[in-house]
Amino acid sequence: MRLVDSHGHVNAERFDGDVGVVVERARASGVERILVPGWNLRSCTRALELAEEHAWLDASVGVHPHDAAKVDERDWSRIAAVAADPRVVAIGETGLDFDRVFSPIPDQLANLRRNLALALDVGKPAILHCRSATGRRDAQDTLHAELREAGVGSTRWAAAFGDRPQAVIHSFSGPVDYATAMLDLGLAISFSGLVFRGGEEASRDVAALVSGERLLVETDSPFLAPPGAPRSRNEPEWVRVTAAWLADARSEDAEALGDALVAAYDRTFPRSRPR
Ligand SMILES: [Zn+2]
Repeated sequence: MRLVDSHGHVNAERFDGDVGVVVERARASGVERILVPGWNLRSCTRALELAEEHAWLDASVGVHPHDAAKVDERDWSRIAAVAADPRVVAIGETGLDFDRVFSPIPDQLANLRRNLALALDVGKPAILHCRSATGRRDAQDTLHAELREAGVGSTRWAAAFGDRPQAVIHSFSGPVDYATAMLDLGLAISFSGLVFRGGEEASRDVAALVSGERLLVETDSPFLAPPGAPRSRNEPEWVRVTAAWLADARSEDAEALGDALVAAYDRTFPRSRPR
């Protein structure tokens, strides 16, 4: 089965000692693309370095909701300055986290808004993290309202993106009607090992309803290890576990799904440099 990891933080410090081995192990197990998302200045810089060292990796740059209150103006202007770099295929990860609230919510909202403005500016999709506390959906509902307010799905955004997704819901979590509202805005949805956790049962229904060209899969390494992967450090090669779950949830042939996942990745994150 062909595979992609549309969200793997191999730029995290936990991979500093052996990242070359980790990405080669992924490659050997069928992973043809890895998108390495930044979350603050250091991790964005590291994502760019890795995309340089390993030409088959892609980078994204932006600020995570956890870091919204920690990234100062100088860091932000440096991140924004590399958004147009050919190694960068997306903006983020950004979004909202009303579960852990490591940055105050007003800071998360301001951060989300400027990441979205940057995405529109460079015509690269925003990668969106969205979590509410267990049993709640306030972050999902606020994110949907913010995207509408920013004009996602409008002709203004379509002028920059054509028919490509303007944003990606990363590591999907939430109810079915939230997913359909995001699909109505033209977004892509990416599934991670989170689908195996309690409270995420709606993900199976969502996985079955996303059209193939807007379906992505990821590990969110080093986090969210799926069953079988080391809990201590998830790696891109383990994307195969979630991909197999997707094939099952969609009653789809694994080989055909693999081809579709690579095609959806390339359509969502087109690159200007040779692969
Ligand atoms: Zn992430």
